[in-house]
Amino acid sequence: MAFAEPLVVGRPNAGERARLLDRLGGVLDRLWLTNNGPLVREFEARLADLTGARHAVATCNATTGIQIAARAAGLRAGDEVIVPSFTWVATAHALEWIGIVPVFCDSDEITGNADPEHVERLIGPRTRGILGVHVFGYPCDIDALTGLAREHGLVLMFDAAHALGCTYRGRPIGAFGDAEIFSFHATKFVNSVEGGAIVTDDDALAARVRELRNQGIDAAGQISGAGTVARMSEFHAAMGLTSMEAIDTIVEANRRNQRVYEELLDGLPGVVVRGQAPGEQANFQYLVIEVDAAVAGASRDDVLEALLAENVHARRYFSPICHQVEPYRSDPARHFPLPLPRAEGLAARVLSLPTGPTVDAAQIAGICRTVRATVRPADRRLVA
Ligand SMILES: *Cc1c(COP(=O)(O)O)cnc(C)c1O
Repeated sequence: MAFAEPLVVGRPNAGERARLLDRLGGVLDRLWLTNNGPLVREFEARLADLTGARHAVATCNATTGIQIAARAAGLRAGDEVIVPSFTWVATAHALEWIGIVPVFCDSDEITGNADPEHVERLIGPRTRGILGVHVFGYPCDIDALTGLAREHGLVLMFDAAHALGCTYRGRPIGAFGDAEIFSFHATKFVNSVEGGAIVTDDDALAARVRELRNQGIDAAGQISGAGTVARMSEFHAAMGLTSMEAIDTIVEANRRNQRVYEELLDGLPGVVVRGQAPGEQANFQYLVIEVDAAVAGASRDDVLEALLAENVHARRYFSPICHQVEPYRSDPARHFPLPLPRAEGLAARVLSLPTGPTVDAAQIAGICRTVRATVRPADRRLVA
């Protein structure tokens, strides 16, 4: 029986309505709507707290945040930056849009993240940086990437859009590399409707980022060079603060959901629920299964279709991956000089299923029944 209401991936978490309306009322009372207002500064302070970083600079979204951080770190048009292909296309587009050339590396199959050995093979005369991604909140091999960046004199940044509240070696994601960039888009588990932030321990980089966010105007009010507009408004910060207050409740719900999925799909041939880094804190914002068609007797897309028929809107995160879409696909010499078999394998297998505080155990049971009914492992077919 199909669900009456659609079950979707990335349903927004609104936080406590009364708190939000209270904050919005305050904005209207002050009529300080944007330009580094008190709520934006409070949001930045909360984020710095949460990540243990010296600086958090809120932006209008993560894509522009990546661009500003790249510029502030000294990256220029024509520079090559190594990024994983297995990520949301925004990671690559952010660079491409400002003339920086994304060069795609392969992924580690367990973590889903940039494989440091593959990254090293791609380092060439025009390489100036590495932009790692903590895919689905699983931290990158930060030690290995930091070692490579030091050895080759590269800028090291992380797209941390999935990793708010996650840890690496017990330390919160946020202050690793030269800068880490978070997203607070409506579909992220903590959201400001639209929004992002650059987090860093580097005082000079933080100051530069603040200038670039605001037309190149420096702390003294002087125009110090070209900048863009990437400010977060007070309305957005009101939502961001309210959503951030609910982070523990949301993570707890996600963790509970992950356990239910793991239990109900346990032992199903060809289907695994992707896990998180052992011994680390995770936010479980994405519930991702991998369907190995050869074993399951059904492809990821078969499962997707079966779920859709039940009004469950699962998502192919991430497929197609960056080097499989334009403008990258047409220019392998520039963007992927080496083959990316493990990233392509992951892209063919992954499927994101609904989770979050609005999804309950009965709904998950329904979803898992459909997945089980779709899978036709070879041994079961012999019996039938
Ligand atoms: C959502 C997301 C982004 C983009 O965030 P915006 O705030 O929408 O610009 C970038 N990278 C990854 C991995 C994402 O999931």
